[in-house]
This record gives sequence, structure tokens and C-alpha cells, in this order.
Amino acid sequence: MIRERRHLDDLIEDLLRDPQYAGHPLRSALSQLWEQSRTQLDRLERLTHISDGFQRMALDQKSSLEDRYNRQLRKLERAARISDRYQDMMRDLNVALREASTHDHLTGLANRRMLVERLKAETQRAERQGHRYSLAMLDVDHFKQVNDVYGHDAGDRVLVEVAKAMQAGLREYDLCGRWGGEEFVILLPQTPSPDALSVLERIGLSIRNLRAPDGLPRISVTVSIGIATYQPGETFSDTITRADEALLAAKRAGRDCCQLAPDLPLAPSAAGRAI
Ligand code: GH3
Ligand code: MG
Ligand code: MG
Repeated sequence: MIRERRHLDDLIEDLLRDPQYAGHPLRSALSQLWEQSRTQLDRLERLTHISDGFQRMALDQKSSLEDRYNRQLRKLERAARISDRYQDMMRDLNVALREASTHDHLTGLANRRMLVERLKAETQRAERQGHRYSLAMLDVDHFKQVNDVYGHDAGDRVLVEVAKAMQAGLREYDLCGRWGGEEFVILLPQTPSPDALSVLERIGLSIRNLRAPDGLPRISVTVSIGIATYQPGETFSDTITRADEALLAAKRAGRDCCQLAPDLPLAPSAAGRAI
């Protein structure tokens, strides 16, 4: 095709150059047609060139847009991964903080703060539903001597063993916590005094019979226990005070025993309601 065109081009140029056709009536028309055709061809070539340029530019732009898009996507993915890890870390930290703020680090039991929270909630529930909970305060007897004779670390291990023995003797919804030092509190929801007394006597016995962990000398300890049962109308700190008084009574009675706090006489308004 290109060869045929080349041939036609050459033929026309030869004809226009040939002097024998100089005066031919069609020469001028052929010459004009030839010029026009050359001009249009040039224009067409320029247009094709420009259009090719545009296409190349568009392709370049498309690929660089794609590159930029992919780069941003990778950045976003990295940021999302970091944010996921950060959120996991924050969740773990929150759990650890909550654990640290509500639990005793030595025994793993509830700490005083958590005990007070649960006591408040339990008192409100008891008020609403009209049932009673019992509260026991336990204190390890002559614990100072344990430290003095066996050392503070051994004393710590004894506290851990006492904590385990207490927990082993409780129901799932009871709560045992460390009140401070060698003092513990046990909360028994919906438990009247006689039942509380038998639970605490069993726990006292299990502490007296504690076995020493492997490789350690057996250190014999006992606990004194004061128990108070919530009385309608009193605050949770009233109940704690009565349990504490019962504990003192147990100490005075010779230690290694349980004492029940006497029920309070009914206040006139409460008595009126009861009738
Ligand atoms: P009582 O029978 O009257 O309760 O006598 P006690 O010796 O147990 O009572 P006291 O209050 O005199 O002594 C309590 C001791 O408990 C003193 C303190 O050093 C010790 N103690 C308190 N907290 C800890 C602890 O976390 N670890 C150890 N190893 N000892 C503790
Ligand atoms: Mg004490
Ligand atoms: Mg003590």
C-alpha cells in the first residue's frame, strides 16, 4: 500500500516537473490538487502526533494516579494495623489497670475498694429485696510472731495460703477480699447468721489444718472471726463495725474461734413497719 502511494507520488512529481506538460491545461489543476493533498497530509500527521502525545500523557497520568492510590492504600493499611495493635494494647492495659485497682497484688483477692463497692451494692439489694447478707472479718492470730520467727517472705506465703483456703470454702457468688495486712473480709449474700457461722467455722478449721507448700516447713496459723448479719436500715459501715466488734470479742475469747455479733434491737420506726 505504502509502495503504491510512493509510486503515485513519484509519478505526479515527475509529471509536474516535465517541461513538455508545462502548458497543459490540467497541469495547474493537478499542481493545486497535489499541494492541497500535501498540506492535508502534513496536518493529519501533526494531528496524529498530538493525539499520540495526549494518549501517552493520559497513560502516564493514569499509572501515576494508580501508584499514588496504591501508596496511600498501603499507608492506610499500615495505620489500620498500628491502630488495631494500639487498641489491643489499650484493652490489655485497661484490664490490667482494672485488675490492679480492684485486686490485692499479693493474694489476688478483691481489695478493700472492691469489697466496699460490692458491700454498697449488696446493701442496696438487701434493702430492695428484704433479704440479709452476712459479713465476716477474719484476722490471722499472732501473725507478728510468724514474721518474727520465719521471716516476712514466709509470712507472705502464709497469707497466700490462707487466702486460698478461704476461697476454696466459698460459693461462687460469695466474695472474699483482703481488708488490709493480715485481715480479710468475707461477704456472704443472702445468708442468715446460723448458715454464716457454719461456713466460717469450716473455713477456720481448714486454715488451722493448712499443709505447707512443698519444700517449706509447716507453719501453723489460726484465725479469729467476727460475723455480723445485715440488719434492715443500717449502713454497710454499721455492719462492718459490728463484725469488727465481734472479731475483737473472738480475740478476747482466746482467738481461733468465731463470734456472732448480736442483732440490733429494732429501731422504733422499723419496729412499726414490722408489725
Ligand atoms: P493478733 O492475734 O492480736 O492479731 O496478733 P498479731 O500479731 O496478728 O497482730 P499485730 O497487729 O500485732 O501484727 C500484725 C502483723 O501483720 C504485723 C505486720 O507486720 C504483719 N503484716 C501485715 N501485712 C503483712 C504482709 O503483707 N506481709 C507480711 N509478711 N506481714 C504482714
Ligand atoms: Mg490485725
Ligand atoms: Mg492478727
